Amino acid sequence: MHDRDIRTSSPSKPRVLLVEDEATLREHLARVLSDEYIVDTAGNGTEALRSVLNTTPELVVTDIVMPDLDGIELLRALRSSRRTQTVPVLLISGRAPDEQRIEGFDEGADGYLAKPYTERELRSRIRSMLQGARLRDETARSEAREQAEQLALAERAALLESITDAFYALDNGFRFTYLNQRALDHFREPRESLLGRALWDVVPAENRTVFQQEYERALRLQCSVAFEAGSPLSGRWVEVRAYPTPQGLAAYFRDVTDRKRAEEQLEESDRRKSEFLAVLAHELRNPLAALRYGLHIVERASPTEPTINSTLGMMDRQMTHLVRLVDDLLDVSRITRGKLELRRQKILLAEVLERAVEASRAFIDARHHQLIIDLQAQNLLVDGDPDRLTQVFLNLLSNSAKYTKEGGRITVTLERDRVDALISVQDNGIGIPPAALEHVFDMFSQVRAEEVGTTDGLGIGLSLVRTLVQMHSGSVRASSEGPERGSRFSVRLPLAKGRADPRRTPRGPTARNPGQRVLVVDDNSDEVASLALLLEMEDCEVRTAADGEEAIEQARAFQPQIVFMDLLMPRLDGAEAARRIRSLSEGERIRIVALTGSGQEEVRQRSRDAGMDSHLIKPVSLDVLKSVLGRWT
Ligand code: ADP
Repeated sequence: MHDRDIRTSSPSKPRVLLVEDEATLREHLARVLSDEYIVDTAGNGTEALRSVLNTTPELVVTDIVMPDLDGIELLRALRSSRRTQTVPVLLISGRAPDEQRIEGFDEGADGYLAKPYTERELRSRIRSMLQGARLRDETARSEAREQAEQLALAERAALLESITDAFYALDNGFRFTYLNQRALDHFREPRESLLGRALWDVVPAENRTVFQQEYERALRLQCSVAFEAGSPLSGRWVEVRAYPTPQGLAAYFRDVTDRKRAEEQLEESDRRKSEFLAVLAHELRNPLAALRYGLHIVERASPTEPTINSTLGMMDRQMTHLVRLVDDLLDVSRITRGKLELRRQKILLAEVLERAVEASRAFIDARHHQLIIDLQAQNLLVDGDPDRLTQVFLNLLSNSAKYTKEGGRITVTLERDRVDALISVQDNGIGIPPAALEHVFDMFSQVRAEEVGTTDGLGIGLSLVRTLVQMHSGSVRASSEGPERGSRFSVRLPLAKGRADPRRTPRGPTARNPGQRVLVVDDNSDEVASLALLLEMEDCEVRTAADGEEAIEQARAFQPQIVFMDLLMPRLDGAEAARRIRSLSEGERIRIVALTGSGQEEVRQRSRDAGMDSHLIKPVSLDVLKSVLGRWT
């Protein structure tokens, strides 16, 4: 029973509703038709409507004359409902007068069969009506589909016309299959002349390669691509995004010439700015040098008066600070121009830290901080630039001293963590708000002045720290529990194996013979005068020259043992003057020290090429001067 049900409800058999009031005939017909159809039966119109409510048949065969609701009324009812409006109805009657038949057609009957009819006639009529209905359905469906497709196309076209980007679609042979108006405007050709043509005919030869490369890649890898291309012909720039489609490729693009120009201008002004910074910092070194020498002279001349002494101490600290700011500025401009170089050697980290502590000691003491140094691992080696690494920790220590209220505590620790060295500089100062932590390493970033209450800095120290540490393949991070809870800066550096290289600039002996003959060459008269005076106070016999020509004359006449030589000078520059001094008789024995505002490798190389013995960067501290004099006593 169950099986049969399943078979009779097989979807391949059309469902027919048979409405007949005569039970024997009804059952007979139902039985004979059931080989081709699923037959539902009803004894009158009302029953038929109930059945239709349950399942919509594909065809209704109904007697016209019936008690209760007759065939015509049933037909009317079927036509009035949306669900059954199109179900074909075959009216059957022998006794129906012609008017009834006409009425039936008026009400929308699809077929009429007069009694008596043969079983074959009935079958063939049902079959042809079902076929007709199916055909009608199919046509209606395909019309609807076509309509929907056209609507979708129109909608897509409207959408593609409304977007601000230019758009085109290509087939697999890179031929245009669609272009929106903006794309047509861009190519300046009508749609008809572009459709079907290959893109390569249209894109200017000069930037075809980039399009070709990118589009072929998109097709090959079935991935989206985005790129910018400039046309040397029109001088315009476009930004393109292209996606693979089943047909080929869809590409959106927009003119970004204005943005490109703005970017170029920005880059140009950025380049000028960093060049200006470089020149500024360089130029600041000369007056700083003169002031530094002057300060040393005054310090040596009036050591007794306590107020003068403390003022000089203050001036010395501020001078050191100023020199550091200028150095940082120069480094920033080097970083932005990609010109910062490392002079690496194997060094002991403990030594680097000692140097940094030594250099920051005066400032830390002046702010009455307690400094705790815990170097657990004394023998950790790194492959690095000693001066640059010292600068890293000097910056961190100075920040701790600066951003901690007087009388605070600063702790420096060094330990080993597997293949790395871990150095931390911690303070109990003003701390850093959580939101600012991630930005403190950005260039020119400062926690807002009202939050920290101090502003003496340029906001570049930590950015330098990060760049320098990264150049050493290391990393640095900042942590703080929050405002007033102190800060900790942790630096991680990869360890080196082996032994420390000998120091590159040994601290020279200070015992030396008085009366050394020294020639100072510089076009800045204040600087020459102050350095000369300082050297005289160191018991040297000093002559000066304002340019290269004068320097050669003086070298000939005075026979100096040491020459301090500025590089950039009018008439004859320092390098050329050094070369000529070398070629004088006895010239080989003269020690020539380049004294310049720049420590860059190319400038150092220039002084080496000119045969100079050493290269010092202005302003030179008294200690370094003494060590030079001592070395060549
Ligand atoms: P600046 O010249 O302003 O010191 P830095 O780049 O060295 O520039 O530091 C950036 C900012 O980070 C500082 O302005 C300060 O707000 C914050 N900062 C740096 N070190 C500390 C510290 N030890 N404690 C609290 N704040 C710090």
